[in-house]
Amino acid sequence: MLCPVFLRELRDPVTRLRGAGKAVAALLARMGIYTIADLFLHFPRDWDDRSSWIGFAEAARAGTRAHARATVVAHEWFGYGRMKTLKLRVDDGRDEASLLCFNRAFLERNMPVGCSVVVTGKFGLRYGELQSSAFEIEGLDGEGEGTVKSGLLAVYPLTEGLAQGNVRKLVAHALADYNRHIEDELPPRLREKHALMAKREAIRAMHAPRDAAEALRARECLAYEELFFFQLAVAQRAHSRAEVAVPRRVPKGILRSRLASRLPFKLTNDQEKAVAEIVTDLGTARPMARLLQGDVGSGKTLVAFFAALEVIEAGGQVALMAPTELLARQHAETAAGLLEPLGVRLAFLSGNVEDAARPPLLGAMAKGEVDLVLGTQALFSDAVEYRHLRLVIVDEQHRFGVLQRLALSRKGPMPDLLMMTATPIPRTLALTVFGDLAVSTIREMPPGRKPIVTHLAKAGNEAKVYEFVRRVLALGQRAYFVYPLIGESTKLELKNAEEMHAKLRDELFPGVPIGLIHSRLREDEKRATMAAFKKGDIRILVATSVVEVGVDVPEASIMVIEHAERFGLAALHQLRGRVGRGQAQSWCFLVFSDKLTEEGKARLKAMLETSDGFKLAEEDLKIRGPGDLSGTMQSGALGFAVADPIKDLLLLEEARIDAFALVEEDPALLSEASHPLREVLRRAPPFGEAAAVS
Ligand code: ADP
Ligand code: MG
Repeated sequence: MLCPVFLRELRDPVTRLRGAGKAVAALLARMGIYTIADLFLHFPRDWDDRSSWIGFAEAARAGTRAHARATVVAHEWFGYGRMKTLKLRVDDGRDEASLLCFNRAFLERNMPVGCSVVVTGKFGLRYGELQSSAFEIEGLDGEGEGTVKSGLLAVYPLTEGLAQGNVRKLVAHALADYNRHIEDELPPRLREKHALMAKREAIRAMHAPRDAAEALRARECLAYEELFFFQLAVAQRAHSRAEVAVPRRVPKGILRSRLASRLPFKLTNDQEKAVAEIVTDLGTARPMARLLQGDVGSGKTLVAFFAALEVIEAGGQVALMAPTELLARQHAETAAGLLEPLGVRLAFLSGNVEDAARPPLLGAMAKGEVDLVLGTQALFSDAVEYRHLRLVIVDEQHRFGVLQRLALSRKGPMPDLLMMTATPIPRTLALTVFGDLAVSTIREMPPGRKPIVTHLAKAGNEAKVYEFVRRVLALGQRAYFVYPLIGESTKLELKNAEEMHAKLRDELFPGVPIGLIHSRLREDEKRATMAAFKKGDIRILVATSVVEVGVDVPEASIMVIEHAERFGLAALHQLRGRVGRGQAQSWCFLVFSDKLTEEGKARLKAMLETSDGFKLAEEDLKIRGPGDLSGTMQSGALGFAVADPIKDLLLLEEARIDAFALVEEDPALLSEASHPLREVLRRAPPFGEAAAVS
């Protein structure tokens, strides 16, 4: 999200740099690097301290990583045929060691005998020699001894075919030719207040720091800047919300009580409370901006429907957006069952609605003949108009990118906004990041749910799991089987959904109706399969993580996830949440292969120990360590390049104070078309769902 307004020069293609030919450019493009600016923003994932060396033997003894300068002294081979493997013999000046190059035969060419290298990795004593099979090796030749001796070297995220040395050289050229074009965007006042480096310096120091302290200062500087612009948008949005007065007709709540009386159950206390909070918001003069968080299966959809009814009764239109068509359809069906009988006029809209059906549908929405439209982000595409859109509900909001949500702002006057998420955010962070949002939390599950029993099973023992599933199916229940891949992969030897679908159908569960669902199927196929599973015509649903969000089939009581180690904690939790939705006892089986990493082990253990999404989110953070927020349960909505809102909480708070003060002082700031900050924000809209910069 760090999106500096560089001068035009920095939009030059990387191919302007020496050493960046077509082939290199193609590799860079794979990582999203096209321009000089992109390259500058391709920050190191770490810095390698070349000032402290640890030899092979010393590392093996201490059980730490070796980090040694060495010479390649021989190429040897072991194994036969396809298994033939290269063994590089290297000498660190004290000891010789073997590097087992599994799947890295190309090192024969890249690391000829006699070349100088830096080797990093774990070593052990095996078969009487020092060995490593998990190591990084880098040629030193051509880099110049100078760079290597002096302290820190950037370590970049790479793509196959690109070496650290390549990227380092390109960045060095870029710094030499373009660094002077980098300009500051932060108000100078703030730069002074926090004694921040100039941006140009900070970017240089990220890539080529003089020492560790400078690298950290540079990071902090860029993190502050990123957080500041983020907070500026939050502040600006909070401000414009406070300025808008919504004309309200407060309804009597007739539709709500009709829905309540039609439900076969009572709302939980937390659901009641959330509805009450929303209804209160909808009665005040300011637009609502509320985040509804509640664990998987806690019943957020119903709360959303109550909110919708309140607005519809007052004569407004409501749009409910879901991240996948599957989920949007499911909501539409639920709405048809619950709301249509109350006279609510429904519509469904996604990118797949047929051309012929579109004009009348869009016409009806524009004329106000639709009260509640459910769909995907197509709801906010350019062609769509609303007569009086008053409430926007975003389900699974963490699933949406920034841009889709930004588009919401263009549909007329600022609507009320309800965002729903099953991905809990630590409270401090919620307040700071969603600073202008009110939060409702559902902690309580609907009554009668039995805790899901989770079992781990080692690959090889899955026959026992299948046997168990057979017995439960015999009782009339339904099961999901989830796989990490759709079809066969040349790279990974993993079970995949297509093959397992055939195998489960033909060999393991003959006679049991089985369906298959994954993202490559056509929408109508997916829909038909889902409907059959819901009805019970299909009893086993073989799937990929497409069923991760939102799918609700209460009769399904078994979730089998094979290669569970390949899934993140958030995904596992969401998948498990597909069962345990009815009255029956539910089970979740996590089948894992023996190639478990420490992290993988920790994730499975966490799944075994708790089913509380809030706890799992915290656990997830711990497992990854605070430095790695990307892809965690919390980071979905944020997407920072440098900043880490948890680690940098103090910075975030400072940035927040500065940003709010600035908007307070000069509210017109962002409405002046020429204001440079406005330009920055336009480019880097943080979840600007409600007219942040329109
Ligand atoms: P989520 O919060 O994950 O979106 P859903 O809205 O899909 O959860 O609800 C999960 C299931 O719980 C649905 O089948 C829904 O009908 C049911 N449900 C919701 N609220 C209650 C309640 N108060 N009592 C019983 N069942 C409920
Ligand atoms: Mg849901």
